[in-house]
Amino acid sequence: MADKHHALELIKAEILDQNICPELAASAKNLVMGDGNVDADIVFIGEAPGKNEDEQGLPFVGAAGKFLNEMLDSVSLQRSDVYITNIVKYRPPNNRDPLPQEKKAFWPFLVRQLDVIAPRVLVTLGRHSMEYFLPGLRISQIHGEPKRIQFGERKVVIVPLYHPAAALYNGGLRMTLMEDFLRLPEIVKLSKQQKNVES
Ligand code: URA
Repeated sequence: MADKHHALELIKAEILDQNICPELAASAKNLVMGDGNVDADIVFIGEAPGKNEDEQGLPFVGAAGKFLNEMLDSVSLQRSDVYITNIVKYRPPNNRDPLPQEKKAFWPFLVRQLDVIAPRVLVTLGRHSMEYFLPGLRISQIHGEPKRIQFGERKVVIVPLYHPAAALYNGGLRMTLMEDFLRLPEIVKLSKQQKNVES
């Protein structure tokens, strides 16, 4: 566990040393790496920090984060049971969508972060992180459906979910996201069984 924290600190130091996305770095207050349990079975991946996240240096601490906490609670999970991060680690100005080149620049660091944490299940929140794990697929067609993929040396289960911010003010999407979320404990359980069958 201490080793994992150390490895994650090294990744953070490299992002700073290499001055990844210098324009975003110049306008952001904090580099938001992630938060939670580095030994978690589930990692949630959003798009980029917003205003509150930038101020506090932590992911999903604003309105979308409050909704995410409620959904975690609905499946008897706490933030300390899971790990939460984003594909882009600096706040884009005025909360604009992250640009393709920004996602591309941060992607190798996200891959390394996930190699360190080694979760069984990756939950993508919204299309910005989904498109890197499940390219060419549409979230409206596959949300909530677990997909098992080869990710580097390991197999992981990707669960594409709608982004909590998109669902906050859209009743239909909100219900869909909450229902999809309820499937997570079973998906984690099945992923553990698959692992046991393979090893
Ligand atoms: N939206 C995201 O995608 N990530 C955050 O950390 C906060 C809001």
